[in-house]
Amino acid sequence: MLIKSKNNTKKATFSFRPDFIATSVTTIDFEYLISLGVSTCFVDLDGTVVSRGTFEVDKQLAHALKNSGLDIKIATNRPRSRSLKELKNDLSASGVIHPQGIFGKPSKKYLRSALKEYGLKPHEVVMIGDRFIQDILGANRSSVYSLLVYKLGSSHGKVDSLLSKFEHRMTIKFEQSYSKID
Ligand SMILES: [Mg+2]
Repeated sequence: MLIKSKNNTKKATFSFRPDFIATSVTTIDFEYLISLGVSTCFVDLDGTVVSRGTFEVDKQLAHALKNSGLDIKIATNRPRSRSLKELKNDLSASGVIHPQGIFGKPSKKYLRSALKEYGLKPHEVVMIGDRFIQDILGANRSSVYSLLVYKLGSSHGKVDSLLSKFEHRMTIKFEQSYSKID
């Protein structure tokens, strides 16, 4: 896991730069996050813990989340379904954050109402996701720690493929100025 800056005081910013970058959920340094005061993780589904539109969770990944020491909540724009409930169990998650009417990720309302509902302060939460707009920008503008993971699975369609390639290039570029955690 890489870190943007050692002096990680979190302020609300309109920024696409994640606070942390990890190649996968399995390589996240959860102990380090806990040392910052993080107690809860909001985790994206598609491209982060499962391939787009699927419900199959990798065992190692589920194990990493279960043993993270953090309370896990799924943060998704997906609609409610029985399969989503099963996914919640597979991920040892204690809740699912759904869009508030039309306000899904990356709206401020989406994360702010979740923080309010669970009685959490922004700096107690890390948002883990694979998308710069939905996950990283959404977290940064709400003062929630942002952690970008490399996208899981393949892209769907031309536009998604182009966006994913662009995001991957941006990730590599950001990584050059990030450092390892001691
Ligand atoms: Mg995603």
